[in-house]
Amino acid sequence: MDDVVVVGARCAGAATAMLLARMGHDVVMVDKARLPSDTLSTHGLIRGGVVQLSRWGLLDRVLASGAPAVTQVLFDREGETKVRRIKPRAGVDLLVAPRRQVLDSLLADAAQESGATLRTGVTATDLLRSDDGRVTGIVGRSANGDRVEFPARIVVGADGRRSRMAEHFGAETLEQFTSPSAAFYTYVTGLAPDTYEFHLAPDVFAGVFPTNDGEACVWLIRPTSLLEPISTAGARRTAAFVDQLELLVPNLGHRVRTDRITAPLRGAAELPNFRRQSHGPGWALVGDAGHHRDPITGHGITDAFRDAELLATAIDHSLRDATVEPAAMASYQEIRDAMAGEVFDLTRALTGFPPPERFVELQIQLSEALEYEADQLASFPGREAVSHAA
Ligand SMILES: Cc1cc2nc3c(=O)[nH]c(=O)nc-3n(C[C@H](O)[C@H](O)[C@H](O)COP(=O)(O)OP(=O)(O)OC[C@H]3O[C@@H](n4cnc5c(N)ncnc54)[C@H](O)[C@@H]3O)c2cc1C
Repeated sequence: MDDVVVVGARCAGAATAMLLARMGHDVVMVDKARLPSDTLSTHGLIRGGVVQLSRWGLLDRVLASGAPAVTQVLFDREGETKVRRIKPRAGVDLLVAPRRQVLDSLLADAAQESGATLRTGVTATDLLRSDDGRVTGIVGRSANGDRVEFPARIVVGADGRRSRMAEHFGAETLEQFTSPSAAFYTYVTGLAPDTYEFHLAPDVFAGVFPTNDGEACVWLIRPTSLLEPISTAGARRTAAFVDQLELLVPNLGHRVRTDRITAPLRGAAELPNFRRQSHGPGWALVGDAGHHRDPITGHGITDAFRDAELLATAIDHSLRDATVEPAAMASYQEIRDAMAGEVFDLTRALTGFPPPERFVELQIQLSEALEYEADQLASFPGREAVSHAA
């Protein structure tokens, strides 16, 4: 029996496994995907996410992967442009947007270096339970179709926003709404590698995250119905995306038109936003599986990193003294909800695309909340303990 089995080995699952392994626990991660691989997501990290990578000793590896250090942010509101340098705060003075296949595999590698085991091509299909109903492991299917069992003292569902583990656990949904907006993105070469860009116009939010291999992720978010010129364009979708960018945010659109597009357009519409009960006897949820928000606030990976650390700490206490498990796990969820609440509410407000004045006010409130959150993450206890154990 392992101490912990983690279902899902991307940014939430791999980070949780890494921290638990560094604390000395036996951890196995299973993922149905073949890793490393990309996933549907842009990947701009905000300050809190960079703080976590730095605290975990992984920021240098991310930069060494070729993901460029972003040192300034450009804001464009209907042609009026401001550029601000990233000020040092919470121990970091840059942002970074690594491709997901880079970030996720770097975390999974770090988890394995600390002693965790990774089993890819394994799909969790059911739970093992004791007579009193406590979760005691998972049942899965390996790539060749064999039934496999992973008994464990704690099972963590890190299986993303469509979490089947949440269903198996019977986790209650505590709060939810559906975004009335959609996002499309692609990759281009030729944009500045050191600048995040945010472009704003009525009912339009677009931007740029420079990433690995000299490419930049260019994205556009709008109320769903207003994206029909793209979503109904069939094989011309990427060309329609460039047309719309040029029409709506010419400052960005003109440059993208002259750059080389390197990837097909991807997107997601009307995503679910929710907060779930995230613990019970022998189980927990982390990352999108427990708490999901629309990407308009660019916060999902940072949420995953914050919750990985809160959960790993709670599980560590529970494994060392089983009598504290209920309180430790309840405290994980309470702290997560307290830290995530403001951004969850701001996400709801922003996806409704209020008039530009209000949209800007909400963005300012968001950036203050994110800076405060970065300070809180930087002051999380246990940094030395975690890195020394590694
Ligand atoms: C369009 C879009 C843009 C985004 N942009 C940003 C952004 O710019 N910045 C940001 O911070 N966040 C962004 N996000 C959010 C971010 O992608 C998520 O918050 C993040 O991926 C959550 O990580 P996770 O590890 O919880 O889940 P996931 O990344 O979804 O990983 C879940 C893993 O679980 C595995 N799995 C699922 N079911 C099983 C099973 N039964 N058995 C075994 N394995 C299983 C899957 O194969 C997968 O590898 C965006 C999301 C979208 C959709």
